[in-house]
Amino acid sequence: MSTGAGVGTGTGTVRSVEVYRSVPRYLATRVLSTALPRVSSTSAAPLRLTRGRGPRRPGPRWGRVRPRLAGICGSDLSTIAGTSSLYFSPLVSLPFTPGHEVVGDLLDDVEDLPAGTRVVLDPLLTCIPRGLDPCGACRDGSRGRCDRITVGHLSPGLQTGFCADTGGGWSDRLVAHRSQLHPVPDDLPDERAVLVEPLACAIHTALRLAPRQGDHVLVVGAGAVGLFTVLALRAFTQAARVTVVAKHPRQATLATALGATDVVSPRDALTGVRRSTRALRVQPEQGSAYLLGGVDAAVDCAGSRAALDTALRLTRAGGRVVLSAMPPAGVDLSPVWFRELEVVGSYATGQARVEGDEPRSSFDLAMGLARDAPLDEVAQSGYPLERWREALEHAGSAGSLGTVKVHFDLRETR
Ligand SMILES: [Zn+2]
Ligand SMILES: [Zn+2]
Repeated sequence: MSTGAGVGTGTGTVRSVEVYRSVPRYLATRVLSTALPRVSSTSAAPLRLTRGRGPRRPGPRWGRVRPRLAGICGSDLSTIAGTSSLYFSPLVSLPFTPGHEVVGDLLDDVEDLPAGTRVVLDPLLTCIPRGLDPCGACRDGSRGRCDRITVGHLSPGLQTGFCADTGGGWSDRLVAHRSQLHPVPDDLPDERAVLVEPLACAIHTALRLAPRQGDHVLVVGAGAVGLFTVLALRAFTQAARVTVVAKHPRQATLATALGATDVVSPRDALTGVRRSTRALRVQPEQGSAYLLGGVDAAVDCAGSRAALDTALRLTRAGGRVVLSAMPPAGVDLSPVWFRELEVVGSYATGQARVEGDEPRSSFDLAMGLARDAPLDEVAQSGYPLERWREALEHAGSAGSLGTVKVHFDLRETR
C-alpha cells in the first residue's frame, strides 16, 4: 500500500484542478467585456491545473488522503458552468479544488485507521470536522442539515470539494477528518468504491421519497443520479412500479437492468403515465399539458426546468415530489398549490431507517449496495488529471455518449 512515497508526492508536486475565482462573477465579466453570447460551457470557467504543497492538516484528528479515483458530479458541473444558484455562493471558499466522490489512500495514522487504509470520503464539512460542538442536526444524524458550515476552524464550504482549506478529489492530495473517512473492504474494487458517495445520496433520496407499499414512482432523468435512485428504490423501499424518464437509448436499457418497470422518453412521459395510471390529460392555453391523477410520487434527478415540470405535472393530488438534483430556477409551482403536492428536498446523505431497523448512515448502506448491485454495466470513463478539460466535456455530455460516470484516475502517476 502507498504511504506517500513516489511520484507526485514531494514538496511542490501536488497537482490540483482549482476553481480560482467566483464563477458567476467571472462569467458575467467575460460576457460583458467580449459581448459573447451566453456562456454555458465549463470551458469558459476560471479553472486551472496547479502544482503546490497541497492542503495542511487543520487538526490532530485529520489525515492526508491521496485520491485514487475521483468522480465528476452534476453539482460540480453546474458550479463550474456558473449555472447553479447564487444562493450557494456564501457556502464555498476560494480557491477550491472540486471533487467530493473520492476513493483514496490514507497517508497518515488517524486514530483507529492506520496509514495505507483505503477509504471513501463522506464530504460533508459539518460541526465535528469544524471543531464545534454538534448542532441539533449533527446530533441526530441529519448532518446534511448542519447550520454551521461557514464557521469553526475551517473556511466556509458545505463539503470537501467546495472549501479552500481541505483540497478536493480532483488532485493528488486532500485532507479529511476522521469522521469523514470510511474504510473500504478489500473485495470492493476502486471503480465501485468511487460510486459509494453518489449511491449514498441516492439512498437518501429514495428514503426521502418514502413510497408506500404498492406505490407507482416516477424517476425523471436517467443519468447517474436517476439510475442510482432506481437501484435504491428497489433495494430499500416497497415501491411497486418505477417508471423512468430517459433521454438516451443506452440509459433506457440500463434503467431496466437496474430495476425500472417501464421506461419512457421525455416526449412520451405524459402519455405513458396517463395510460398506466388512468389519469386525465388536460391542456392549458399555453405551455405543456398536465395530468389530473398520475403517479403517487416523483423525483427530479436531472435538475432541469423541463424535468421538474414533468415531475410536478405528472404526480397525483396529495403526492410527493423530491428534488434530488440542484433545482432549476423559474419553475411553475401551480401544481404544488392546486394538487397539494408535498415538495421535499434531498441533499447529500443522512441517517437512514429502513423498515423499522435501527437507523444507519446512508454511507454504510451504500457500501453494501456498491458491492452487491449489478454495476458492471454502468459504464465509467477515467481521465488523468492533465486531461481535465476533456474529462469535464465528456461528463457534460455523458448521457448521449453512453457513459454513466466520468472520473479522474489518479493511479496512473504512481
Ligand atoms: Zn455529488
Ligand atoms: Zn452541525
